[in-house]
Amino acid sequence: MNITATHINYYHICHRKLWLFTNGISMEQTSDTVADGKLLHETSYQQRADRYREIELSFTLTNHISLNGKIDFYDVKNKLIHETKRSDKMETAHEWQVKFYIYLLSLNGSDGVKAILEYPRIRTTKEVSLSEEDIQHLQEVFSNIQKIASLAQCPERINSTICKSCSYYELCYVGD
Ligand code: SF4
Repeated sequence: MNITATHINYYHICHRKLWLFTNGISMEQTSDTVADGKLLHETSYQQRADRYREIELSFTLTNHISLNGKIDFYDVKNKLIHETKRSDKMETAHEWQVKFYIYLLSLNGSDGVKAILEYPRIRTTKEVSLSEEDIQHLQEVFSNIQKIASLAQCPERINSTICKSCSYYELCYVGD
């Protein structure tokens, strides 16, 4: 199974969302929030494009899980990933997403990498690093993602305030 940062992000937000995504049901293109986030990402870093590298990484684990990631802004010299987000409401998911990138870089021979999460709209940044415990957690997450993806039935919806900004909102709450 291919696991990307999107899987890691969705796993930490909602297992139903992860299941829908891994089973080929994608509605991201209809989400204004997602489109807004992509625009923010592009405009926030326009001036930085020359200073940072976009890199694509992959690594195959022994248990037939393939990890894949695309880091948009990587400062090679300072070993620093820059990831910008629209809001910090889902900060835990954002943190695990960049920890996944750091882990992928370490699997590809780059140690000592850190990440900066940037929230330009609220003028906040957060530094993220990867610990041994984080690596253990990620390895459990990879296994759990496989299990969730292969469930015969979609997990229950989470009835959270975050649902209203989720691209699957209409699908989950149609008829209510
Ligand atoms: S709308 Fe809520 S329950 Fe449905 S996938 Fe999104 S976060 Fe999960």
